Amino acid sequence: MRPMTDEEIIRFFEMAIAGGQIFVYYQPQYNHSTGRIVGAEGLMRWRHPEFGLQYPVNFIPILEKYGLIHRADLFVFEQICRFQSNCPPSVRIPISFNVSRHDLFGHDYVKELEAIRKKYDVPVKYLHAEITESSAIGGIDLFIKAITQFHEAGYLVAMDDFGSGYSSLSVLKDLPVDILKFDLQFLAGEGLGGRGGIILNSAIQMAKWLETQVLAEGVETIEQADFLKSVGCNYVQGYLYAKPMPEEKMRSLLETGSFETTVPTLTFIRGL
Ligand code: C2E
Ligand code: MG
Ligand code: MG
Ligand code: MG
Repeated sequence: MRPMTDEEIIRFFEMAIAGGQIFVYYQPQYNHSTGRIVGAEGLMRWRHPEFGLQYPVNFIPILEKYGLIHRADLFVFEQICRFQSNCPPSVRIPISFNVSRHDLFGHDYVKELEAIRKKYDVPVKYLHAEITESSAIGGIDLFIKAITQFHEAGYLVAMDDFGSGYSSLSVLKDLPVDILKFDLQFLAGEGLGGRGGIILNSAIQMAKWLETQVLAEGVETIEQADFLKSVGCNYVQGYLYAKPMPEEKMRSLLETGSFETTVPTLTFIRGL
């Protein structure tokens, strides 16, 4: 069990897709004021028979570098659509999928996603796109265009890892995203009483004034959860609540657990 080298990743990738080695883990997202599940994020995993379970940090940058991420992301999206189509409508929740900036350039990505979504007949409100702020590097125009295309097709768009990029304020001003995801890892071990807590609190209030939903990810401690409650950030995701899990486990959680049935849609969020 060891991380694969770049060469192994490139060499084994096609076989991994064809052989079911690439799959999706699901991490629930909660409304901690009600304790209910409001959604989940789909996260890519690769289990190689020889090298063991591989995490995105080790292989996604390589897939991006060698032009393979587009194929991988479409594959993950298809798995998520299949999961949703097998889920009885009464226990369905929105699932987020990650979009690499490489998916957006040189592809009609939303059109490709739409073909898959329609094949599985999943209502668009059950699929949320997550784009990282760093995707805006090297041209905000393409990014705005991508968000517009997602919106035209009915997808809610979350900005992932908000605050960890380089140009949060201008990005926030110009990009009409629906959800901001704050990654608490940016506190890097620092408590919430210091500068990090002040910035986080202000950013959450700013998002609310902009009528953008906020979700904190990477929530690991009760102290963090209490802080988030006190500043009115109700949506959370993190090891404190649940770790990413295999799809059978996610499904049984939905079948036995409690979750919100009012699913946010563009109409709902933007008052269209
Ligand atoms: P992300 O989209 O920001 O996803 C959240 C990451 O934080 C996940 O790591 C998740 O397992 C981890 N996490 C969740 N709760 C906690 C917590 O309480 N503490 C800590 N320390 N970590 C937590 P993961 O699954 O290793 O994914 C890492 C990154 O890889 C993702 O960050 C995303 O940028 C990328 N990624 C994952 N799946 C995909 C995919 O299908 N396509 C693309 N393009 N990128 C993906
Ligand atoms: Mg994400
Ligand atoms: Mg994130
Ligand atoms: Mg992250």
